[in-house]
Amino acid sequence: MESVQILGCRVDGVDLAAALARAAQFVREGGPHRIVTLGTEMIVHARGDARYRAVVNGADLCVPDTIGVVFAARLQGMPLHGRVAGVDLLERLCSQAAGEGWSVYLLGAAPGVAEAAGAALAARHPGLRIAGARDGYFGEHEAQQVAAAIHASGARILLAALGFPKQEYFLARWLAASGAAVGVGVGGSFDVIAGRLPRAPEGFRRLGLEWLYRLLREPSRWRRQLALPLFVWLVVLDRLTLGKGRRST
Ligand code: UDP
Repeated sequence: MESVQILGCRVDGVDLAAALARAAQFVREGGPHRIVTLGTEMIVHARGDARYRAVVNGADLCVPDTIGVVFAARLQGMPLHGRVAGVDLLERLCSQAAGEGWSVYLLGAAPGVAEAAGAALAARHPGLRIAGARDGYFGEHEAQQVAAAIHASGARILLAALGFPKQEYFLARWLAASGAAVGVGVGGSFDVIAGRLPRAPEGFRRLGLEWLYRLLREPSRWRRQLALPLFVWLVVLDRLTLGKGRRST
């Protein structure tokens, strides 16, 4: 599989179909396999945090979650067709899981949200087995118990919606103990699936403006979203100074 480095983070050249095929292969092979849905803010964060960068780059699959990552990858010469949004990957994976009999554990978001998201997914994908669900507000000292509960549930797929960097750290440390074959970090997806947060309308999504929609809905995110112009600046700078199209296969 072809990949590029964007500001030190690996991005794999996959579209939604290829990412899904890869995830399905991981489930069949057995675990633990980690999937990172790589967003712009995560790359900016990883730039200043070597430990986080190593966790991201150690994943089995890093998909381009945001339009900024897609454009940056294209600048490096990788012809990505579009983003692989965590919420879309999750939805498609659940659809396939329902057909194959793979059970899914939902970990993350505020109390009650993971359960509601699980119920919504089970309603949309008849036959989907929800092995368990719990909120994402637990301390580090409880992480082992959380992993043990997932193990006891027998889940094959672990969806971790703890936000970054917590979800990547949790999966890197505890996925093996959880017994799941695949762990995917899916950010704020449960809030969207449970209907707590609306997803950007089609028009915004088509134009690559989902970030703008989110900013309009949640103005308090402006500080976090400063990562966006910073990301663009760093990518352009990187391209002008060193960017020699660091592609690898
Ligand atoms: N979250 C969590 N545990 C925490 C911090 C955050 O479960 O300790 C959840 C939060 O409730 C939200 C998700 O993680 O559902 C991340 O949301 P955010 O909007 O930050 O994610 P993004 O999609 O931007 O990565």
